[in-house]
Order: sequence, then C-alpha cells, then structure tokens
Amino acid sequence: MATETEKRIKVAIIGGGPGGLGAAIELGKLPFVDWNLYEKKPQISETGGGISLQEHTWRMLEYNGTAENINAKDFYRPADGQSGQTRNGRSGKLIGKRYHSDDVPPHRHSCRMVRAKLQSALLQNVDQTRVHVAKKLVAIDELPGGKVRITFEDGFVDEVDLLVGADGIRSFVRKFSFPDHNIRYNGQSAYRTIISKEKVREINGLPWVPIFWNNVGGLYVFTCPLGNDDFEVTARIRRPAEGQEVVSWGQPFDFRTLLHEYDEFCLPVRQVLRLAAEGETQEFALFSGPRLERVVSHGNIAMIGDASHPLSGAFGAGAGFALEDVYALTKSLEWAWSRGKALTDAVDLFDSIRSPHYKALYGVLDKFAAANSKLLAEGLSVDQEIEERAKRMSEASESWMYSYKVDIVPLSSGDSDESFEEVYQIRHDDGNAVNVRTEDALFKGSSDSQINIVTADVQSINLIPRENVEVRV
Ligand SMILES: Cc1cc2nc3c(=O)[nH]c(=O)nc-3n(C[C@H](O)[C@H](O)[C@H](O)COP(=O)(O)OP(=O)(O)OC[C@H]3O[C@@H](n4cnc5c(N)ncnc54)[C@H](O)[C@@H]3O)c2cc1C
Repeated sequence: MATETEKRIKVAIIGGGPGGLGAAIELGKLPFVDWNLYEKKPQISETGGGISLQEHTWRMLEYNGTAENINAKDFYRPADGQSGQTRNGRSGKLIGKRYHSDDVPPHRHSCRMVRAKLQSALLQNVDQTRVHVAKKLVAIDELPGGKVRITFEDGFVDEVDLLVGADGIRSFVRKFSFPDHNIRYNGQSAYRTIISKEKVREINGLPWVPIFWNNVGGLYVFTCPLGNDDFEVTARIRRPAEGQEVVSWGQPFDFRTLLHEYDEFCLPVRQVLRLAAEGETQEFALFSGPRLERVVSHGNIAMIGDASHPLSGAFGAGAGFALEDVYALTKSLEWAWSRGKALTDAVDLFDSIRSPHYKALYGVLDKFAAANSKLLAEGLSVDQEIEERAKRMSEASESWMYSYKVDIVPLSSGDSDESFEEVYQIRHDDGNAVNVRTEDALFKGSSDSQINIVTADVQSINLIPRENVEVRV
C-alpha cells in the first residue's frame, strides 16, 4: 500500500451487528482509512433475547473503549464466580456447576445482558454520519485495478478498495466469495422470551444463575437473569424443516402452541415457560455451515463475525469472535500500511491469524459430535442419557477460546520476513496455546530439551519442552 498521506483506503462494511459496529470503531481510529457502513435494516437494531459477554469479549470491549458504555445494572453476573449450571430438566437435579478460574479477573467474568444493550454500547462509539441504513447489498463486482463495486437494492452504488463482510450468518458477501459454500437449517429452533424478574421470583426452585435444563432429543430450556428487571427464557427444540419457514429469524411466535412439548419438565421450568408463553416470544431457526478454508477472497474482501464462521451461536461467544476478527483485521491493515505493502498482504495476514482459530473451534465441535454419537449408540435410559451427555460434553469442552488473547497472536505474514514483533507460541500438552511476545518475556536457561520463560505479565517461570515452542519471527 502506498504511504503517501493523501492516499487513503476506501472501505465498505456490510452489516451493523457487533462485527460491523466493532469494525466501524476500529477503522475510525485509522487515519488512512475512509470507511462507510451499510446496513439493510431501516435502523441499527437487534432482535431478541440475551447475550453472554465472555472473558475475551470483555477484553475486546475494553480495547475498543466501549466497556465503559456498559452499566453494571444492565447485566447479570453471579457474585460467587459461577458461570453456569447444567440440570436434568425433568427432575431438576443439579448435574454440574461451572466456575471461572482464579486467573480470570472478576471484571471479565462472563455475564448476560439484553442484546440491544451491547449494540447500543458499541453504537455510542461509532461515527454515525458514516452509517447508512436501509441499504441492502445485492451485487458485488470485482473491477479491473483491484477495486470492488457494491450495489444496493435501492440502486445506490459504491466502489471501494476493501469490502468487509459483517453481514452475519446468511452473509451475501460469503456467498459471493465462496459460491459453493452453503449453510443449512440444523434442525433446531430457539424460542426466546424476556420476562419480568419480579414474576419469576414467585417461582420456587429456580436458581438465579444461567442454567441449562436438559432433556433428550435436543430439547432444553435455558433460564438466566439479565440486567435491570429482565429475565431470559430460551426453549430449544428440534423441528422438521419441511413445511416451515426455516429462514425465520426473530419472528414473533405464539409459544403457547409449543408448551405441551415441555410437559415432562420439572415444575419450576414448566412454570417459567408458562410465564414466557404470556410474553412476546421470538422464533429463531438455527442455521450453520462448514468451516471456510479462508476468511478472505479476491485479495480485497475480508469476512468478519458470523460471515466468517457460520457456527450458529456455538460457544455463546460469537460477539467476542467478531471483535477479535476486527482487531486482527485492523492491525493487519496498519501493519501493511506502515510498511508500504499491498492491501492483499494485509488481507492475507488477517486470514493467517483467524482461519487457524476457526479451524480449532470447529475441531472442538467435532469432538462434541463424536462424543454425542457414541452416547446415542449406548442405549441408556433417559435420565442416564441426560446425565452422561452433560458429563461427557463437559469433559470434551475446552475453554481456551474464552481466554484467547488475539492481541498477542503471532503477527507474522507467512513467507514475509517482516512481522510486528517476535512472538513465541507455546503449545501446551492439552492443546492450548499461549503467545509470548519478546517484549513480555525473558528467556533464561534454555537447554536442548527445555526453555525457561519468565513472562512479565504473569510473573511466572514456565518450563516448556522445546518441541512445544514455535518461534515466529
Ligand atoms: C441462538 C444463539 C445464541 C447466541 N448466543 C450468543 C452469546 O451468548 N454470546 C455471543 O457472544 N454470541 C452469541 N451468539 C452469536 C452472536 O449472536 C453472533 O455471533 C453475533 O451476533 C455475530 O455478529 P455479526 O455482526 O457477525 O452478525 P449479526 O449480528 O448477524 O449482524 C449482521 C448484520 O448484517 C446485516 N445484513 C445482513 N445482510 C445484509 C445485506 N445484504 N446488506 C446489508 N446488511 C446486511 C443484518 O441486518 C445484521 O444487522 C448466539 C447466536 C445464536 C444463533
């Protein structure tokens, strides 16, 4: 990329969800970028339910400056460090409790809030003169010379150097980039209702923490207090694709028509579902698709958020993943700009940071699927199946994605001999990776088999087998 100050990179962001708004904030900090955001809805708005802010999401919100826009009254976080429970939905029996580990600072413990509050926190830091609503992207054309032409439903046309697809799970940008990639209805729909905490308090036996109340056959209920007077109830159920409007997302739904499906659940769950059925429920048909080999295309298109990884809410951390994508993309642009490199180099660098991350996440889902198939083949009783599934999913689960630090990922660009800095990636036996920058680390007493690393941030000495240390320069 040319470094003359008068030349700037023109960027279009498609979509005003957490990914698009996060991109608007970070691109707005880059003096060499001229950006605009296009959202198809008539206003920047968010449908339905609650959202968990995980440790890594807080980290990114602190980085982009919007954590301070979130008021403690707006979210719910258990005071005892608990992150959630799993119960047998039929008997109410507690099967497992999860806690944050001691090294997670309390201000980054996961919490749950109404989605619109997160969106409004992000929007506050966005230059809204550059946000254009009622602009649905309907065509993309690659032009000679490296620019991209984007055409909107109302006939508006723009030409940009970089197209950022932040247009969600049903991404138009992804479909253009990878026409053979398809997402499909995964056979499950979620019904989400926010009700008043005051009413829920009248129910006996409904603990005040995030709880999955599980049954078999994909049937479960999730209950959780949110901020202010809000309490979230989400019911998940398998539904046949045939004859249904499976593309529905955030559609009003009469939940009374499904209440009978939950007759086998324990009393507190049935009571809270009855309250939900009196409220305003929205239906979400869940879609997902295979992993993309690359999250970039054509040298001038980058996908972020759900556009880059159609996981349909797996891990309850998609907002954090989207903001990590933003971090990696904007740092890659800065890296290329400051070195006079081409935009394609920035795009490739971004891909080299994020594609491996998504590969690892899909790998965790494969482990879940394998554990589930094995379990289903065992012919257990209903209660045994519920308990065993919770136990085995907990064993198969990994938590590295929540403590992942995108800001210390090795930022080296493949075959390039330049990088931001020297980064040592240490792979532990359990598969987790820790990245240590040279500026944070002192290397002492290395031998052929082992490297002793003192990291400034954790003030600890780790003895790392040499084969587990990968040096990126
Ligand atoms: C059931 C469920 C539960 C989840 N729970 C959590 C959770 O607890 N925590 C968490 O962090 N994540 C959770 N997620 C994931 C999270 O919702 C997503 O990862 C996150 O919203 C992704 O943000 P995004 O900006 O990529 O996409 P979106 O939020 O989907 O935003 C995309 C935007 O693009 C716009 N758009 C689409 N097409 C076009 C077009 N052609 N032209 C212009 N604009 C367009 C859309 O209108 C929308 O505003 C959950 C997801 C599901 C399905």
